[in-house]
Amino acid sequence: MNLYEHEAVANIYRKYGVPHADFVVATEPNDEVARFVADRGGAVVKAMVLVGKRGKAGAVKLVGTPDEAAKAVRDIMAMKVWGETPVAVMVCEKAAIVAELYCAMTFSTETRGPVITLSMQGGMDVEEIDPAAIKTFPVSATAEVEPFEIRNMLVEIGFTKEYGAIVRQASMAIANVYKAFWGAECRMLEINPLAVVKVEKTDRKTGKTVESLDLRALDAVITLDDDASVAPQKTYGERSAFRRDQTQREVDALQIDRDDHRGKAGSYVEPEDLGGDIGMMTFGGGGSAVTIETCYDVGLRPANFSDIGGNPPAEKMYRISRVILSKPGLVGVLVCGGTASNTRIDVTLGEGLVSAIDDLAKEGKLDRDLIWVVRRGGPEVEKGLKLLAECFKRHGIKGVVYDSSLPITQAPLILKDLLVEHRGYRPGKAATAQGA
Ligand code: GDP
Ligand code: MN
Repeated sequence: MNLYEHEAVANIYRKYGVPHADFVVATEPNDEVARFVADRGGAVVKAMVLVGKRGKAGAVKLVGTPDEAAKAVRDIMAMKVWGETPVAVMVCEKAAIVAELYCAMTFSTETRGPVITLSMQGGMDVEEIDPAAIKTFPVSATAEVEPFEIRNMLVEIGFTKEYGAIVRQASMAIANVYKAFWGAECRMLEINPLAVVKVEKTDRKTGKTVESLDLRALDAVITLDDDASVAPQKTYGERSAFRRDQTQREVDALQIDRDDHRGKAGSYVEPEDLGGDIGMMTFGGGGSAVTIETCYDVGLRPANFSDIGGNPPAEKMYRISRVILSKPGLVGVLVCGGTASNTRIDVTLGEGLVSAIDDLAKEGKLDRDLIWVVRRGGPEVEKGLKLLAECFKRHGIKGVVYDSSLPITQAPLILKDLLVEHRGYRPGKAATAQGA
């Protein structure tokens, strides 16, 4: 799960002592923002979105007065940042940046352990940094990295040439970044810029204001491990890959795989426009992709996507079938996948799907006008498809059943033709839920 910057700072930077700017979060101008900006004589207003390069999109604004801040809050909230609508803005204490470092921590498949990437050329996009100026250091897979190890890394990237005076506090700060990375169970934690900033401090002895340098994390890009010991959803709520709230059906589907780890039947999404009229019961990553692509090609409008595989038990297949079929507005259902190597067709289709249809009929919820096309191969396919065809027959369902002798790309075409013939279907692009 990807975190918004304000979530990362509030929950992770704070907890692990990663130095960061003071901030408030808002969705509209208010007194708290005005006071924050007035007290500090300015601020940085940033869009809370999950995409990067906000600076380039004009979604990071420096302001000097409460009025300017109010305008920036309003403007940013009304913006689309690379297509994404901000959920909030973060109003941050302005930093006097002296240098910008790049700092990232992640797991490397090469060393099969955590790595720390550092560069003195932060601020810009990581892809633009001169490869010679960016260094990746493998570290051992433990909860902590010693500040002296970080110190050596800072020497190697040239930090100490100019900022030797603060190498001790910089090492401790980055050691805390690592603690955060490990402790919060991140897959990736990126800080760009990790800035050397000028700060004013009151000298304890003389009472005078003195300037000194410090290190501060001015950004936070964090991906939490979805398989963390505490599911990220518990802390941050459900979050869809589409950057919108999940629909109830998507939430229900996820629960299927959480309740039972055998096979996969909970990977289910609904297109962003929430339109579509074809229920998609598709199997396997490749099979599902080919089927969906072909649907769009022939002018069918998928109402949902699923990717079922790994031989799920009948119970899971029963549950995902009910989720798929409960999407309102369906006119047809495509049950389609390649030739499974270990997913039992008698169990998934012959038992799971059949009992879902039987129960829906019993409950008076079965839509008998739906047109079904089935195309599937794999273990016990003959038995599975026979049970399904019998089920269609006993409920008066218009459905055709094929095994893998039918090319996979033919199934969407057959469904389209049946829909045109029997339901006056008009193939074409999906209209959005708003009717646009
Ligand atoms: P990103 O573009 O999405 O990575 O957003 P950032 O939060 O990293 O902000 C973009 C850029 O704005 C940074 O690279 C900084 O150069 C600049 N910036 C961010 N915060 C401050 C600040 O407090 N003071 C100044 N002067 N610049 C800032
Ligand atoms: Mn950044």
